[in-house]
Amino acid sequence: MSVDPNTPVLRNCIHLPLPEDELIEVTGKAKDYAIMHGAAMRSKTSFSPDSLNFAPFVLVPSSFPRKEFEKAVGLQPIINRLMHNVAHDEEFITTTLAETIKVDEFTANLFNIYRKVLAHGFTQRTSLGMLRSDLMLESGCPELSPKALLLRGEAGEDGQADTAAAAAAGTGSGGGGRGKAKSKAEARSEEEKAKRDIHLSRATVSGITTATMASKDRKTAAYCCWKQVEINTIASGFGHLGPASKTVQSFVLRELGHADKLPKMPNNNALAGLCDGMVKAWDIYAKPQAVILFIIEDVSYNICDQRFHEFYIRETYPHIKVLRRTLTDVHREGKLGLNKELLLSGLEVAVIYFRAGYEPGHYHSQDEWDARYLMETSLAIKCPSIQYHLAGTKKVQQALAQPAVLERFINDPEEIKAVGKIFTGLYSLDDNDAGNATYEMALRTPEKFVLKPQREGGGNNVYGLDIPDALKRMSRVERSGWILMDLIHPPLTKGYMVRPGAEMPPTIVDMVSELGIFGVVIGDADHIIHNYQAGHMLRTKLATANEGGVAAGLGALDSPYLIDSDDEDEN
Ligand code: ADP
Ligand code: MG
Repeated sequence: MSVDPNTPVLRNCIHLPLPEDELIEVTGKAKDYAIMHGAAMRSKTSFSPDSLNFAPFVLVPSSFPRKEFEKAVGLQPIINRLMHNVAHDEEFITTTLAETIKVDEFTANLFNIYRKVLAHGFTQRTSLGMLRSDLMLESGCPELSPKALLLRGEAGEDGQADTAAAAAAGTGSGGGGRGKAKSKAEARSEEEKAKRDIHLSRATVSGITTATMASKDRKTAAYCCWKQVEINTIASGFGHLGPASKTVQSFVLRELGHADKLPKMPNNNALAGLCDGMVKAWDIYAKPQAVILFIIEDVSYNICDQRFHEFYIRETYPHIKVLRRTLTDVHREGKLGLNKELLLSGLEVAVIYFRAGYEPGHYHSQDEWDARYLMETSLAIKCPSIQYHLAGTKKVQQALAQPAVLERFINDPEEIKAVGKIFTGLYSLDDNDAGNATYEMALRTPEKFVLKPQREGGGNNVYGLDIPDALKRMSRVERSGWILMDLIHPPLTKGYMVRPGAEMPPTIVDMVSELGIFGVVIGDADHIIHNYQAGHMLRTKLATANEGGVAAGLGALDSPYLIDSDDEDEN
């Protein structure tokens, strides 16, 4: 992908470039620090279960506008509740996926499990959602043209409504968030946190006026809105690597004599937040001997991220045992007990955490599908349950972005407005008039779009000028397995990317970042018991790369350095 020369650039956290000798020294130390603090992965090129490489990382944290970061954090409980409500709306899921499952075999297999579970009734009504909402800043946001900014400035609008509505969501008002079964202490602490968020958001927003933004140069546009890339409801990774990135980059900043910058790197409790979510679900299951089961791939390259979840649980709650099994293992060993409890090696499973099962390659044969169904019909609390998995499909995301659909799931008009703003253009390719219009639009201006199938895990999308050929190869019916989405144009950052095996010292490159906000939501069709935001992760890729999967090799671990529009420029 080429980069528009007019793309705004976010100011750096510290002055770059570094003198070469200092750069070589700090990079070498940082690589060792990363391995020794678990910011690491198994090598794909020279795999060994006995060794680790450091995970690619950005040497110093990339800047991210504080206001947008806090808006995303504040909005997460609303997104959690939205996804929970979507997952429990049988009619919506069924009609939304009706065309998709005619042509997409993988989604059809998932949907078949859903249909069978619906027919027999849910053995376990409670679901554990551990979500990650991925977003990018949109530098080309039309709302932020200088004229629009001045108009909004005159009208006294500075975004407070959005952030306040977003932050208020953590109090559990409206929708399913009634919190009946929550213990008083837990409910209080979740609400306290929400109140702190409101305070934080308001304090920050009031420090920036749109008029000052309008008077600045194009760099200012980098402070623009953000748009959701996707929402993950299965295997939302980096709960460990998110915080670990902060640990590595904090070390680097201290080594470089910039300890004063550390307070601008927000706390990140993703690992604790997510693992505590699993333990809250384990508590709800209420069987002291029952275990937590991680469903894993045949080979786990992202081993540190998974193992640190396991080790956190074992260290913090030593009485809870964690098992790791593949879908194939579950097919071989798993069975249901008299009350449909899932039994593995004689142990009862309370909670199932899927780190695999999101792509066709994880199901080698019908055996793995049978294992998924067995787990789905069991009493164990699933993360995700089949309805949550389906709610996370790209097709559902596209349907949610259509006018008036959010009203079905969210009551509060301010919340609807705040969530509506995070969607960029998402278009159906179903075999009907609207889908045909999308098809024509994509052929006319493919450079504006990304084409997505119903897949997770990266490497499946088609970008820009490759879209017409891809679409022309499909029949009209086949197209309905895909959706079209506006490309988001994030601002650039400049920095050093450090990768295993790459030349030393690294050179300064143009990069773009994608922020993921974690959320935990636990409940059933009638009640939400827990709903909170749980930390974040930042992935950064070369500006010229279409995708930034860290394990895939193009992305790098990063963490946000929060900047305000009236900060002094470092350069
Ligand atoms: P997957 O579920 O396979 O991860 P995503 O929808 O997250 O699929 O897309 C993969 C990557 O492609 C994202 O992490 C992001 O880097 C890039 N991408 C996806 N959608 C967009 C978009 N609308 N604009 C710009 N980049 C995008
Ligand atoms: Mg993704």
